[in-house]
Amino acid sequence: MPGLEDLYREIILDHYRSPRNRGTLDTPPAVMAQGHNPLCGDEIQVYLLVDGDTVADVKVSGQGCSISQSSASMMTQAIRGKSVADAHRILDAFRRMMGLEVADAPAGEEPAKLGDLEALQGVVKFPVRIKCATLAWSTLSQAMENAGA
Ligand code: ZN
Repeated sequence: MPGLEDLYREIILDHYRSPRNRGTLDTPPAVMAQGHNPLCGDEIQVYLLVDGDTVADVKVSGQGCSISQSSASMMTQAIRGKSVADAHRILDAFRRMMGLEVADAPAGEEPAKLGDLEALQGVVKFPVRIKCATLAWSTLSQAMENAGA
């Protein structure tokens, strides 16, 4: 019977082999931010189109290890079509899962659902890979800032 770790490995490999929302968007109206993880050689470009209070579209290009690329793919699925506020909540929830310093969610607020992204929680046990898992997210954070969102 397959365990949780096998299921998680399957999810990560699936997103690595068939990345979602892969590509680029025209800038402007979209903004772009680039991230690089020299420890592993991962490179990511995040294209973000914010329309009012909504993440209207997001695409990712780049290359790197399975952790970095699958995390980017899952990230696009998690935030695409969400409100900017929800995207920030998901970003915080993911960073918290990865053991990074993040302000606590306001009392009484439901924690954001991470869905497939929970497959990456095992990465916390391997500090050298945390940068791989969080690269897309720090790049997204920069893109949000570039978009004024
Ligand atoms: Zn990597």
